[in-house]
Amino acid sequence: VNNLKKYFDIRGGVLGRKIGEVKAVDGISFTVNEGEIVGIVGESGCGKSTAGKAILRLIEPSAGEVKFEDRDITQLSAEEMRKLRRNMQIIFQDPYASLNPRHTVEKIVGEPLLIHGVNSAKERKERVKELLEVVGLSAYHASRYPHQFSGGQRQRIGIARALANNPKLIICDEPVSALDVSVQSQILNLMEELRDEFNLTYVFIAHDLSVVKHISDRVGVMYLGRMVELTEKDKLYDDPKHPYTQALLSAVPLPDPDIVKERVILKGDVPSPSDPPTGCAFHTRCPVAMDICNEVRPEFLEIEDNHFVACHLYNKE
Ligand code: SF4
Ligand code: MG
Repeated sequence: VNNLKKYFDIRGGVLGRKIGEVKAVDGISFTVNEGEIVGIVGESGCGKSTAGKAILRLIEPSAGEVKFEDRDITQLSAEEMRKLRRNMQIIFQDPYASLNPRHTVEKIVGEPLLIHGVNSAKERKERVKELLEVVGLSAYHASRYPHQFSGGQRQRIGIARALANNPKLIICDEPVSALDVSVQSQILNLMEELRDEFNLTYVFIAHDLSVVKHISDRVGVMYLGRMVELTEKDKLYDDPKHPYTQALLSAVPLPDPDIVKERVILKGDVPSPSDPPTGCAFHTRCPVAMDICNEVRPEFLEIEDNHFVACHLYNKE
């Protein structure tokens, strides 16, 4: 993902003229390796879901590149994109909202097969059965409707549907956020097993730092449409470099009560993405902001091996 942007127009007045824009995703860059799970965290409204959808072109990016196996998919025709899409799937936060209540599980999970040319009903039925077993359900569930399942089971159905055409990449947009904590770990474990079994690659979006920590190999942190830090999971959680990451992590209670962390309290609210601060978007809340921070946007630089940070504290020349 190279300098990806997604701006939405704000329209107003009787003529509905453009009166501004929301910079939902404002130039993010990162790489995801095959078989890897890259977590993306940030508070709600930071642009992480929009980024996920723009990566798959479920919404059109405003600018930037998304290379999938070396092809810039932002340049593909609708037909080429349609073919490629079987390789790239998305799982949503609310499995209920994303499953048609009037369709049986068989139809829901079989639909992507039909779209991608599995025309034999018998073949689809077999494959659906296989998929249901892969996600811990069974053929017995195929004739049922979404409302007959628990939240966790519905997410299993959503995962089965995403897996139907043997995708390579799955964007997981808060897939466990709507679930009870006890069910969350079951689904996360399932997703990890599936990753290993089918060599899947995930971009795993969540606002919950512990969920992302559980499942990710590397973690990126977003703030106001920008990626502010990205590195290996342990590095990020043990030695965060960006002041925003430090503040986020300091708010998470530690399991060991003997370790006392200094809690960083951020002042103010997250500014509006329609009027983001100049320079570093975090400068209005950063406890260590300097003069340069409200003037110059810090570049997203690799300050140590595999550790990217966008902050002037580390941009020493
Ligand atoms: Fe804080 Fe400046 Fe770094 Fe932004 S660039 S996080 S304002 S120190
Ligand atoms: Mg979201």
